Amino acid sequence: MSEFNLIAKYFTRACANTDLGVGDDAALIQISTGHQLAISADMLVADTHFLSNCPAYFVGWKSLAVNISDMAAMGATPKWATLAIALPNIEEAWLSEFSRGFFACADAFGVSLIGGDTTRGPLNISVQIMGEVPLGKALRRDGAKAGDEIWISGTLGDAALGLAQLQNKLEESALSTSEKQSCIDALQAPQPRVALGIALRNIANSAIDVSDGLLADLGHILEHSKLGANLYWEHIPHVNLSEKLDLAKLQSLTLAGGDDYELCFTAPASKHDAILAIVKNLNLKLTHIGVTTKEVSQLNVYDKKHQLIELKSKGYDHFD
Ligand code: ADP
Ligand code: MG
Repeated sequence: MSEFNLIAKYFTRACANTDLGVGDDAALIQISTGHQLAISADMLVADTHFLSNCPAYFVGWKSLAVNISDMAAMGATPKWATLAIALPNIEEAWLSEFSRGFFACADAFGVSLIGGDTTRGPLNISVQIMGEVPLGKALRRDGAKAGDEIWISGTLGDAALGLAQLQNKLEESALSTSEKQSCIDALQAPQPRVALGIALRNIANSAIDVSDGLLADLGHILEHSKLGANLYWEHIPHVNLSEKLDLAKLQSLTLAGGDDYELCFTAPASKHDAILAIVKNLNLKLTHIGVTTKEVSQLNVYDKKHQLIELKSKGYDHFD
């Protein structure tokens, strides 16, 4: 199969919101008046971002989902993506499943694949995502104010537990059969919080998606906004395994595990009720987990007895 047949068979679909899609030297798009273009890229490398035995469908889903998550974090509506892929060889069964997972995610979030590049090399998947946000309405890391409430969507630590499970790093009895499956699903098929990001446009002061762990990612908001924060462990939503899993391990997976793709955001207390209304409208769990402070770079997590929780690692860093 030639490169061009491969692109035609696996990566060419009708594109919405696009003047010219796959097939020419460049794609052509128009952005809506009164909007800014939001652009981000994320690369997935085998055995760093996904296990090399991960089903190709989920590699496809996740490579787009993690990019869409960055649009969600900005309060942008994702619209277009490009895909640059290096493949060691052409394995049609793998490509067909990869493409099915990629387009399932694209369809779920209204994204068009408008171009890319295909080459031979060690398996590497680079996606660029583009979206739109009304002028001046983007959610940024530098907008938090002292005294903001800190919120998190969904639950944290599921994906890290799923990874630990697949790597045989958990005791056999740590997770029930259904917990195993839901944690592996969280790892392999993350659900970007696009509707939440859009709903927060006029509500949140700052937002970030949690890809490297809550403490690391909230740390970016604090750094950019020149603030500190107090978090309360008993309010942080996590899979309830405390009886079967050592507490220190559970805390580390929840606070510093990666790959959650939940949104962490801050908003003034005056928006508390508006946020509870989003919970109802989107049928999505949102939890108030702490507050920002004026103590620059001080990120404290307190346990039930108001003792500080100390963690060895705050999150994932590729160069640590
Ligand atoms: P060029 O040589 O001009 O860069 P290519 O031959 O690399 O163009 O690509 C041909 C067309 O196929 C282009 O429109 C490009 O955007 C698209 N394309 C290539 N690889 C992919 C891919 N993996 N997914 C989507 N579109 C792709
Ligand atoms: Mg060209």
